[in-house]
Amino acid sequence: MQFDILIKNASLIDGSGAPARRQDLAVAGDSIAAIGDLAACEAAEVVDASGLCLCPGFIDIHAHSEFNVLIDAGRSKLMQGITTEVCGNCGLSAAPLLGMAREQRRSALAALGLDPDWITMAEYFERLDCTGLRTNIALLAGHGNLRGSVIGYGPQQATAEQLGKMCALLEEAMDCGCWGLSSGLIYPPGAFADVDELVHLAGVLKKYGGFYATHMRSESDHLSEAVAEALEVGRRAGVPVQISHLKTMDQRNWHKLPEVLELIEQARGEGLDITSDRYPYCASSTGLDAHLPLWACEGGNAAELERLRDPAQRARILAELFERTPAEEVGATTMLARLASEKNAHLQGRMLAEAASLRGQSVGEALCDLLIEEQLDIDAIFFCMSEDNLRTVLRQSWVMLGSDAAVRDTDGVLSRDMPHPRAFGAFARLLEMVRDEKLMPLEQAVSKMTSMPAKRMGLKDRGLLAQGYRADFVLFDPCAVRDRATYASPHQYPEGVRAVMVNGVWALRDGACTDNLAGRLLRKG
Ligand SMILES: [Zn+2]
Repeated sequence: MQFDILIKNASLIDGSGAPARRQDLAVAGDSIAAIGDLAACEAAEVVDASGLCLCPGFIDIHAHSEFNVLIDAGRSKLMQGITTEVCGNCGLSAAPLLGMAREQRRSALAALGLDPDWITMAEYFERLDCTGLRTNIALLAGHGNLRGSVIGYGPQQATAEQLGKMCALLEEAMDCGCWGLSSGLIYPPGAFADVDELVHLAGVLKKYGGFYATHMRSESDHLSEAVAEALEVGRRAGVPVQISHLKTMDQRNWHKLPEVLELIEQARGEGLDITSDRYPYCASSTGLDAHLPLWACEGGNAAELERLRDPAQRARILAELFERTPAEEVGATTMLARLASEKNAHLQGRMLAEAASLRGQSVGEALCDLLIEEQLDIDAIFFCMSEDNLRTVLRQSWVMLGSDAAVRDTDGVLSRDMPHPRAFGAFARLLEMVRDEKLMPLEQAVSKMTSMPAKRMGLKDRGLLAQGYRADFVLFDPCAVRDRATYASPHQYPEGVRAVMVNGVWALRDGACTDNLAGRLLRKG
């Protein structure tokens, strides 16, 4: 039998968790044609993969590349061995973009050079269909988009009519081929929703077999209550729940992990389908204004900026913030990762305390003034988590890996900020922890990056090395694989990832990306 490509002598890890075995793999077209002893077979191209691990292409269940893929074909995901990204997490998707949802994103998107020419999910899908992609892309519909489109950024409860409109938008997105609904309950406007609204919307997913992914209402002082709410949505709506980037934020909450794990284990014991993901680092990253109390963000960007400018309201905002976390701690644990203006670009990569002293200001005044100067558009990195808890979370049988990052590059527009190193190294880092710390068996780690996310999505032809599955796979050197990205110098691709195939096409060879853009937009069938 003649194949297109034959990979010989690799240590094959099929993604199921089964032990590695020495086997050959053959590709025909965009699919895996055979696995086994194929020594007698011929192929147009034969690759000797001695000393390398061959496993399914990694699936990043928690990604945010929905806008960046339109700007440039960035390499930071593919260079880690990622072949599929699930985008639109944390309540933020690229569509629908109506009303306030559109207005609120306009300036941030303009800073990226994007002027969205789509409104609906169907139009965004069309746009992606004619965009060259390095990896496959799957999409979630963001609850923040639904609420922002229908209700705006006010704190009010949804009326029955508004709820109906949000459901209709979600159905439209699911009809296009989205894989589920995401929520971001620390961010406006999603944070203004009560649990009944979330249950109602999640209920729509049932007939599609979709899942509900949630960035919970608290990952800090109200973590346990937030987990209980996520479980309640799953229980009442009857849908699978993915708890996004499970963590215990701020040292005063580190002791809560056993309680949280117990809550989730109990729910799973009841038969609820609850899973989670985590990135393998101890700093989080999001907008700097996530520090502000929620009331300060009511009404949208213009109202938020107005409050920051008003001395009395600013004082109240800072008093509430520093009551929870003292100003010195905020200054010493917050790193400025992206400031778009030329004026403040030199502060990128600096701690907030350092930026404040350079400006001759207190931490609070610098925080508020920078937000005003940058029209709120500042990303930050927060050093707030426990190394021990990170490892405990990653070891749970129901936790998979997710980067929580948008794709970046070492050149061009996608290289301009100081992103969290997870954008460049998350998947290599888990492999490194497996080798250097014996965190878990390699086969288990691979399943957390492949079959587990595929199962969560209901993705049937990827996530395993098996005959008939799509030819998405990675060849890496288990002795050499290493995350090189750091907080101070994030723009570094990992070492040890030798080759990546996407849909039967070499997307990466000899450690470097090819010019092939073989990724596809994946629609839930
Ligand atoms: Zn999130």
